[in-house]
Amino acid sequence: MRVLILGGTGEARDLAAALHAQNVAVISSLAGRVARPRLPVGEVRIGGFGGPDKLAEWLRANEIAAVVDATHPFAERISASAAQAASAAHKPLLRLERPGWSERDGDRWTWADDLDHAARLIPQCARVLLTTGRQGLPAFARSEAFFLIRCVDPPDPPLPPHHELLLDRGPYTVAGEGSLIDAHRLDLVVTKDSGGALTHAKLDAARARGLPVIVVRRPPRPQTPAVATVAEAVAWARAHAG
Ligand code: NAP
Repeated sequence: MRVLILGGTGEARDLAAALHAQNVAVISSLAGRVARPRLPVGEVRIGGFGGPDKLAEWLRANEIAAVVDATHPFAERISASAAQAASAAHKPLLRLERPGWSERDGDRWTWADDLDHAARLIPQCARVLLTTGRQGLPAFARSEAFFLIRCVDPPDPPLPPHHELLLDRGPYTVAGEGSLIDAHRLDLVVTKDSGGALTHAKLDAARARGLPVIVVRRPPRPQTPAVATVAEAVAWARAHAG
C-alpha cells in the first residue's frame, strides 16, 4: 500500500523525500503544467486524473492507503476533487498547506479577493512586478499599466499590452528582488498569498523601498483535516501507510 501525494509544491517534494527515507512507499502526482518540473524523489505520475470520479477509481485501483493533498494553496480544483474522491473511495485524506503570509511593520499591503479584483486595484500608470502565475494573466489583459510578468513557462495570450516577460523560478533573494525592482523602476508588486519562504523575498524588498503590494487572498478550501508542516504530514502518513 502506498501514500499518494498530490504535489507541485516544495512541501510535497519534502514530504516525498522524508517518507522515502523512512521506507514508506509513496507515489507523487503532478499536474503536468510546467515543461520541466522539479521532480520529487520516488515514484511519480504526471497528468490530471479526469475529475473526482476517475480519481476515486484510480485510488481504488492503485493500492493507495492514504492521500496527502500538498498542492498549492491556489490549486482549487484538484483539492476539491481530492476531497470528493477520497470520501468516495473511503481513503483517509490530509491537507498539507503552508501558512499564508502576514503583514509586518512597514508593509503597505492591500488585499484583493481574486485576480480580477487585483487587476481593478492597479493604477493605469503603475509599473508592476506581477508574480501571480501564468494561468491567471488574462485578468490583467485590459490594464494599461506596465507589467514585468515573472513566471516559469511562457504564458499564452491574452496578455496586457505593456509588458515584459521574465521566465524564472524561485527561490529568490531580497537583494535580487531589490535589483529587479530598481532596474525596471517598478512601483507596485502584485502577488498571490502563496506563503512559504521561496518567494517571500519580493515582500521584503517592497517593504525596504516603501512599495505598495496587492496580495490576492487564498480561495476557500474543502473542510479537510489539515496540517501546516511537513513533519506533521510525515507522522500522519506513517500512521496511515498501511
Ligand atoms: P487546479 O486548477 O486545482 O487543477 C486543475 C486540474 O489539473 C485538476 O482538476 C486536475 O485534473 C489537474 N491537477 C492539478 N494538480 C494535480 C496534481 N498534483 N496531480 C494530478 N492532476 C492535477 O490546479 P492549478 O492551479 O492548475 O495547479 C496545477 C498544479 O500546479 C498543482 O498541482 C499545484 O500544486 C501546482 N501549482 C499551482 C500554483 C497556482 O498558483 N495555482 C502555483 C504553484 C504550483 P483532473 O481533474 O483531470 O484530475
